[in-house]
Amino acid sequence: MQLYVLGCSGGIGGAARTTSLLLGERILIDAGTGAGELSLDALCKIDHVFLTHSHFDHIACLPMLLDTVIGARSRPVTVHALPETIAALQAHVFNWQIWPDFSVIPENGNGVLRWAPLAVGESRDLDGLRITALPAQHTVPAVGYLFESPTGALAFSGDSADCPAFWETVAGVDRLRGLIVETAFSEREAGLARVSKHYSPSTLLAALQRFDATIDVWLTHLKPLDAARIVAETSNGIHRISALVGGQTLQF
Ligand SMILES: [Zn+2]
Ligand SMILES: [Zn+2]
Repeated sequence: MQLYVLGCSGGIGGAARTTSLLLGERILIDAGTGAGELSLDALCKIDHVFLTHSHFDHIACLPMLLDTVIGARSRPVTVHALPETIAALQAHVFNWQIWPDFSVIPENGNGVLRWAPLAVGESRDLDGLRITALPAQHTVPAVGYLFESPTGALAFSGDSADCPAFWETVAGVDRLRGLIVETAFSEREAGLARVSKHYSPSTLLAALQRFDATIDVWLTHLKPLDAARIVAETSNGIHRISALVGGQTLQF
């Protein structure tokens, strides 16, 4: 199985796109501005979207994705997310003011958007893959995800501050190929990381001490102006730590 990085930045500007990962051909993980990189053909193939949380940088392209594919689909696009995330999107986005309620168009009972509430620890089996919602700690209800294929697994933190339950879960995963972990802020903005519930290099390195196996760690959600600084500050000589980049493919 492969995970293709459409967007993994903590902002926009130049080539930076916000979080969206393509798993195989028809599963999207978050729908930030990276989803706008998909061709029309590729957009029409998306059957499932898994959201980590309701923040705008992770959902920005979902409304436009649905609007773009509505005429080309006979089946709905299923959006999997925490009930709180679904409620926030229903109240604040798909409310007929910001955007139409695509769960009832083209007609009630046959909407192009189907909501699928997902709880922490719950899994979906799709295309030979198991996708499980992992615990996260953020300013709104949020999850990470574990992706397991028959040959390996990858874990993704979503947006999170230190979350011991996330690390306990991933430590028990068989054939774990690597971790995609957000590190939104550099140390000079560690205070901002704390109040907005994101990792900074020092809190991520402290969290990684719980994880003694040598493993690939890809940093994501780096604020564009500080990306190089964040990578330079995040090194421990144990794990293979590098920045995730748009256009990258991870095999597992
Ligand atoms: Zn967030
Ligand atoms: Zn975010």
